[in-house]
Amino acid sequence: MSTEIVKDIVCPHFGESQKYRLYTGINAEENPELKQSILDETLFDWRCQRCNYFAAMAYPFIYVDNRAGYIVCLAPGGSGRALESPEPFGGYVKRRVKNLAEMKEKIMIFDRGCHDVAVELVKNALCTIIKKRYNDSRLHAYFSRVEAGKMEFAIFVPRNLEPVYHSTRMEVYNQSQEVLRTLDYTDPEDFTTVDARLAQRIIEQYQNT
Ligand SMILES: [Zn+2]
Repeated sequence: MSTEIVKDIVCPHFGESQKYRLYTGINAEENPELKQSILDETLFDWRCQRCNYFAAMAYPFIYVDNRAGYIVCLAPGGSGRALESPEPFGGYVKRRVKNLAEMKEKIMIFDRGCHDVAVELVKNALCTIIKKRYNDSRLHAYFSRVEAGKMEFAIFVPRNLEPVYHSTRMEVYNQSQEVLRTLDYTDPEDFTTVDARLAQRIIEQYQNT
């Protein structure tokens, strides 16, 4: 199902035009190399063959994993509407993200068999604690892995380029799933943004019950 568009990109240095491949649809099984470039966050990279000028592109595309049953739509800036799905994708988990880092995170969460809404609740709990430690509320946490009974997150603090890693016990994840069960949380049929804001709304709802 991978769909490819070839565009001409003009390098700002010498003005020559070069071909650039855009992918509006990426399929997990058919395009393992494109999946890897999402995980490496290099899918949008463009480099001029003549002068090595580098630019990061951004364009909307959908990523489909038929085996795991999920579809993630990247809409840069969050403004674009979900792309029209060529297939109905009934019963698929549907997510919308704003950038490659968020797309990568969704793939890592779903490939690990985790529920991203519960993961967002874990992040919320973790960030509440570490915000105080770093004395900075503009932290960004990304799911990293599950190992030795712990869920690990990469935390980006605005001043630092490199992330710092923090883990929580899997118990926190299990409790988060319990919160969702208590609230009878069900995934909307449509493309949904599952992020820190949704986690905040769920927690407020839970505290009011
Ligand atoms: Zn150039």
